[in-house]
Amino acid sequence: MKRRRKRIEDIALQRIERLFELAEVEARKTDAKERSRSDRYVQLAREIGMRYRVRIPSHLKMRFCNSCYAFLIPGENARVRLRSDYITTTCLRCGKQMRRPYKAPRAPSPRKIQIASTESQTNPKLNPFRVCGDVGRAHEISKFKPQRSFLKEFFLFRFWTLGF
Ligand SMILES: [Zn+2]
Repeated sequence: MKRRRKRIEDIALQRIERLFELAEVEARKTDAKERSRSDRYVQLAREIGMRYRVRIPSHLKMRFCNSCYAFLIPGENARVRLRSDYITTTCLRCGKQMRRPYKAPRAPSPRKIQIASTESQTNPKLNPFRVCGDVGRAHEISKFKPQRSFLKEFFLFRFWTLGF
C-alpha cells in the first residue's frame, strides 16, 4: 500500500512539473487565448496537487499568483523585490503581493527542548528529539541568527541568472 502511494505521488509530481512547463510556454505567448490556457494549466497542476495530496514543489510555488493563479514571469507580469528578510513577488495582473522569507536553519523551539528533556528523564524511548541535557542552552540556540547576506547573495544570483 505504501509503495502504491509513493508511485501515485511520483506520477502526480511529474504531471505538476510538466503542467508548469506548459504553462510557462503559453504564458510567454502574446495571444490572450493562449494566456488563458496557461492559467488553466496552473489550475490543473493545483488540482492534481490537492487531489493526490502532493505539495507543489517550492521552486514552482513562487511561479504563480496566489490570488488569480496567473503564471508569473518576472519583468513581464510580476515584480520581484528583495527585502532584508523576505522576497516580495507582486502579481501585476491583480496586484497581489506574495512574500517568501529567506530560508534559514531554524533553531528548535524552547518548548520542544523542554518536552524532550522531561520525557527523556522518565522514558528515553519516548524522546524523538534527543536533545538531552541541553535545556540551559535553549536560550543560546534561539539567539542564533542566520547568515542573511549570504542568502541574499544567493537569491540575487539566482534571480539574475535564472530569472526567478
Ligand atoms: Zn494575481
